[in-house]
Amino acid sequence: MCGIVGYIGFREAYPILIKGLHRLEYRGYDSAGVALINPQNRLSVYKAKGRVDELEKSVKELDLSGTIGIAHTRWATHGEPSNINAHPHCSQTGSLALIHNGIIENYAVIKANLIQKGYTFQSNTDTEVLIQYIEYIKATHTCDLFKAVQIALNHVVGAYAIAVMEKGNPDQLIVARKSSPLVVGIGDNEFFIASDASPIVEYTHKVIYLEDEEIAVLHRDQEPKIVTISNIEKTPEIKELEMDLSQLEKGGYPHFMLKEIFEQPETLKNCMSGRINVEGTHVTLSGIIDHKDKFIYADRILIIACGTSWHAGLIGEYLFEEFCRIPVEVEYASEFRYRKPVIHANDIVIAISQSGETADSLAAIELARASGAFVYGICNVVGSSIPRNTDSGSYTHCGHEIGVASTKAFTAQVTVLTMMALAIAEEKGTITKEHYLETIKELQHIPSKIKKILAIDGKIKELSAIFTYAQNFIYLGRGYDYPIALEGALKLKEISYIHAEGYPAAEMKHGPIALIDNEMPVVIIATNSTVYEKVLSNIQEIKARKGRVIAIVNEGDEVIKALADYCIEIPSTIECLDPLLSVIPLQLLAYHIAVNKRRDVDMPRNLAKSVTVE
Ligand code: GLU
Repeated sequence: MCGIVGYIGFREAYPILIKGLHRLEYRGYDSAGVALINPQNRLSVYKAKGRVDELEKSVKELDLSGTIGIAHTRWATHGEPSNINAHPHCSQTGSLALIHNGIIENYAVIKANLIQKGYTFQSNTDTEVLIQYIEYIKATHTCDLFKAVQIALNHVVGAYAIAVMEKGNPDQLIVARKSSPLVVGIGDNEFFIASDASPIVEYTHKVIYLEDEEIAVLHRDQEPKIVTISNIEKTPEIKELEMDLSQLEKGGYPHFMLKEIFEQPETLKNCMSGRINVEGTHVTLSGIIDHKDKFIYADRILIIACGTSWHAGLIGEYLFEEFCRIPVEVEYASEFRYRKPVIHANDIVIAISQSGETADSLAAIELARASGAFVYGICNVVGSSIPRNTDSGSYTHCGHEIGVASTKAFTAQVTVLTMMALAIAEEKGTITKEHYLETIKELQHIPSKIKKILAIDGKIKELSAIFTYAQNFIYLGRGYDYPIALEGALKLKEISYIHAEGYPAAEMKHGPIALIDNEMPVVIIATNSTVYEKVLSNIQEIKARKGRVIAIVNEGDEVIKALADYCIEIPSTIECLDPLLSVIPLQLLAYHIAVNKRRDVDMPRNLAKSVTVE
């Protein structure tokens, strides 16, 4: 994963790089580092294990001058988090410095060859091998840095977004990418590069999204030059950024995660805006309208995703099957890509990813496209790799999500899936007019109902205090709320490090019930649905074994109130939209438990937000 950032221009690079690293810290925080070429043409490299703050503290007294520099925040893949393994990595002579996001899969072979030729290595990373290799090529081919990078990248197997600079050549920064994201910001006589646009947006809105296997040569006083690794010159396509700076600040909240939870009434309105007409009688998704027949005649829908997006996909399965009568399979992208999946040209493959950069989902998309299937992307980050590699798609339009544990992106994904199911069902004639209109109407009420749930945050906080020291949790739900049980458990695991399992409520009898004793908290979603009575019996079963039940119920439910140990009341809605409401208290519960445990909520250990490694 890792975040990379770079600058070349007329300003001091260091403050821009450090600010950029803070913005990219969600991508990894095992170590941070910066390299600068200062006015005396010295290449200074500073690194520190841990957060960007540690790096800042360690360089306070040092020379940080220079108008060209690169910086990195790491999520380790090869080599433990340490000072030595931190990026930037330098070549043996110390004249080249490189930052890298991705994995050089054939690093061991290249390293062994270089060792035979007398090269020595400081770190255990795959990245150091790449920069040594570039230097080796530069020396043996007597070529310039650009050519050496180009030749090296032709021999590299794996994924990379890199930036390289050279002592003695302070007017040039070279960047390249394959399967890891890289954005180039274009200023007046200056360039910014980063893994996403967040470090760039305050300086310029003009950007180029590099494509796979493209190298950009950024020269201080020249137009950017883009050439592929097979030496084809490309005309840079400059795009306008759709991001504003306030999205990148906490806005008075103690954590981004809490801010993002509270943003959901607004983000869902944005997600629906322009897609549901003002009369509230029609849903139009441009990504579907342009390819209507594909959806009408699809034999099957395959949803591929990872993590929280996979949970949204499960809800998608229920929606498409109920509304559109199309069979659906939901797949983990990482599993799908490595078996031999049967994909037909008449299948629709929907890839869901907040970042639009999830490596496994991208690989699964490639597989689907090769089989001739129509591929649809549901992503949040505009211009990211998935939207650029799919036939069509919808953005979730929920703004930059910074908290590593996804919240607002999840509800926006479910909202997009709901609108898709409605639009397709209407085209196919598999939904009655009343059902169609009622669902649209209820969907539009969701933001205000979420607001009502957010208003009881104080109560959820009180409840969290009771369960902060639990060792384990079970989450149960049925039907549309089963994926929410999975999502609630995942949220708690991710940020509090408490072990939690989500199950379909009825599956409890087939194993997990053995875990229930008077210490085990069981969160059960028991809202009004066709399976309400069944869930009620499940609660009885847990109570009979002295489990401690926290029930998510609809307002005014006296039956479960009499039975459960604790109840969180939420407004009622129609069954298919229940996940959009029932997930909110579970996000808040996980958040408060994690805060009580003094966890780093926005940057939980070992995780990173944008999973660009396989
Ligand atoms: N493979 C590199 C390392 O471990 C970069 C990791 C990444 O991009 O996640 O340092």
